[in-house]
Amino acid sequence: MPLYIPDTIAAIATAPGRGGVGVIRISGKALGEFTERLLGRSLTPRYAHFTRWRDERGQVLDEGLSLSFPGPNSFTGEDVLELQGHGGPVVLNMLLRRCIELGARHAEPGEFTKRAFLNGKLDLAQAEAVADLIDAQSEAAAKSALRSLDGAFSSEVNALVDQLINLRMLVEATLDFPEEDIDFLEAANARGKLGGIREQLLKVLATATQGRLLREGAHVVLIGQPNVGKSSLMNALAGEDVAIVTDIAGTTRDTVRELLSINGVPLHVIDTAGLRETDDLVERIGIERTWAAVGKADLALLLLDSREGITSHDQAILERLPVGLPVLRVFNKIDLTGEQAGTVAEDEVHVSAKQGIGLDALKNKLLELAGWQGMDDNIWIARERHLDAIRRAQEHLDLADAAYQQIELLAEELRLAQNALNEITGAFSADDLLGVIFSRFCIGK
Ligand code: GDP
Ligand code: ZN
Repeated sequence: MPLYIPDTIAAIATAPGRGGVGVIRISGKALGEFTERLLGRSLTPRYAHFTRWRDERGQVLDEGLSLSFPGPNSFTGEDVLELQGHGGPVVLNMLLRRCIELGARHAEPGEFTKRAFLNGKLDLAQAEAVADLIDAQSEAAAKSALRSLDGAFSSEVNALVDQLINLRMLVEATLDFPEEDIDFLEAANARGKLGGIREQLLKVLATATQGRLLREGAHVVLIGQPNVGKSSLMNALAGEDVAIVTDIAGTTRDTVRELLSINGVPLHVIDTAGLRETDDLVERIGIERTWAAVGKADLALLLLDSREGITSHDQAILERLPVGLPVLRVFNKIDLTGEQAGTVAEDEVHVSAKQGIGLDALKNKLLELAGWQGMDDNIWIARERHLDAIRRAQEHLDLADAAYQQIELLAEELRLAQNALNEITGAFSADDLLGVIFSRFCIGK
């Protein structure tokens, strides 16, 4: 007969498939009796016990280490039980089924981390960093995620919120006591304080922008006329044959995508169909897709044939590019002209895709155009969601500054700025936001 245990969750925490060790994690408010039933004994907290796990009839399912972490000193803040058994899918599933029989239910994706958040063990930015650490595609991204997990980002946000609260107390006091007025705010240097907060927020935005780039990367399109060497360049950058290269113009009819990591920054590069006038229907569809890709890109590489320079066709392509889209002009095939490799002008580099010449200069330019300022030991990982909140806080602080003389408006804008910042750490967050964030985790986290 299953026990009644209020909302105890269980999941296999290790990756699917075979492995030396497999871990099952269980979290619930009170796991004492659950543990007794599963192990036939109790456990010393945070002590590795060699144990046998048995089914209903007392048959051994597997054996291995059992550890208990009584709440609140556990990852989730509840009682947590960790079973380290043999890492085979069948044996782990038998053990998991036994846990369900004993009254636990299958954990949803991210549910352990969500409980850690709800029990105040982690704030929201830290909880997101758990997922970002697991998903990290480069060492730089992993290190930054760990910094966010350790609270580097959150503490900057909290410091800003503290300063805002201080300022708000001043402003609210002015509202509460009508005899106080703008002179009172002046005397307390409210304006100077507001300026300091805005400056600090700009710095946080700059770091968050770098952190977002590390996590999400930038979208790059390779465009140009047929046969200038777009597919060859894509292959040279990727270091393997991903796009089809031929000398028949119009070969790349569809877009080919590749994820490159340059100095740890993910770049989503799209090779496109050559842009030219054509009657071929299939090729025309490819060209339409190219323009669609251009519309979504963060930056474009316009590939040119060094022997011809910028032709009227290239000029026409340039004119059709969205305003504000950074464009790097890449003069290819310098092996045929004998030109010097590397960077020539701010937005120009000379390479040979075929011979792999000038590619380092090209990569550096790419990172620069993507907004990458180089890895340092202070970058923490961030998401578009965080940048959005920071930008909204900025807008409210701008409005606060503009409304400075109208104290009621000032107070309101400061309150809204604080709310926006609180969304980052989840000090103030809607349930549906939590749903979106945690559903993207893997199970067992
Ligand atoms: P795309 O149509 O722009 O994708 O061009 P491809 O990459 O398919 O290349 C067209 C032709 O130009 C192929 O024959 C390539 O081998 C050749 N090609 C590409 N890059 C270079 C280069 O740097 N030097 C030389 N000599 N030939 C190149
Ligand atoms: Zn091509």
